[in-house]
Amino acid sequence: MDSAVEAALRSRIIQWVQDQAEANGGFLHRDELLDFHIDGQKLPVIDYSRGIRNPQAFGSTLSIVSAADGPYDDTESEDGLLHYAYRTGDPWSGDNRKLRHAMETGMPLILFRKEVPKIYTPVAPVYVVDDEPENRQFLIALDEAFRFIPNTRNLTTPQREYAVRLAKQRLHQPAFRTRVLVAYETRCAICELKHGALLDAAHIMPDSDERGVPTVNNGLALCKIHHAAYDQNMMGVTPDGEVRIALDLLEEIDGPMLKHGLQEMHGRLLAQPRRRADRPDRDLLAWRFERFSTQ
Ligand SMILES: [Zn+2]
Repeated sequence: MDSAVEAALRSRIIQWVQDQAEANGGFLHRDELLDFHIDGQKLPVIDYSRGIRNPQAFGSTLSIVSAADGPYDDTESEDGLLHYAYRTGDPWSGDNRKLRHAMETGMPLILFRKEVPKIYTPVAPVYVVDDEPENRQFLIALDEAFRFIPNTRNLTTPQREYAVRLAKQRLHQPAFRTRVLVAYETRCAICELKHGALLDAAHIMPDSDERGVPTVNNGLALCKIHHAAYDQNMMGVTPDGEVRIALDLLEEIDGPMLKHGLQEMHGRLLAQPRRRADRPDRDLLAWRFERFSTQ
């Protein structure tokens, strides 16, 4: 395939992945990715059985899958770049050749984080920026800017800090949202709204605090309005999972959003995940509720 044609096709695929993920709440289901069609042709976006997708007609890799606890040594490192291990076999042919080609041509690809079985969180576009044969790995950047840095192995301190911040925004926050939304079966824990595009993962203990870890038991799936109300302490949740609305808000008289969306939530119980380990941690809820009730 001509490389301009491939580039155009690739950007349409990336756009579709981003739109579809946004509609779902930040992730895609395995079946959606396998059943993707473009211009009447079936073109799976991930491979059926492997963690890399190299369509036959494409010169460069289309997507890679990184599982946090997966079989490949592609752990994120302190430099904010993804270290993606060579695929087994000949380092100069097959999958490795198409990854290297993506580096040479600057073709964007899609990184999928597999947080839970059959659920994929996309990060796109990402770029292969370096090849380290001695370590049998590629370096993958989460931002186009890193394509133009001649030596990603010796990033300056500000560059490294930027890369780490970017990794947090583009990898870790979306991964947290996916894990939380999946645990809550894509519904707001307070009002049970079921539209992924309108749902966030709220931290109970904020991630600005070092104890504010991105684990599901420090999260709540909340719709945008309840997330903002929770963050603003207009709404609190007791350690027993009961919703409280701030007194001044309860006394206010206004339209239907205030009445139905907020005041009527007072006294409701959180809808909690099925798995016990995913349910909000009582101590974290207590810490947060203390801030709500003493404001
Ligand atoms: Zn809600």
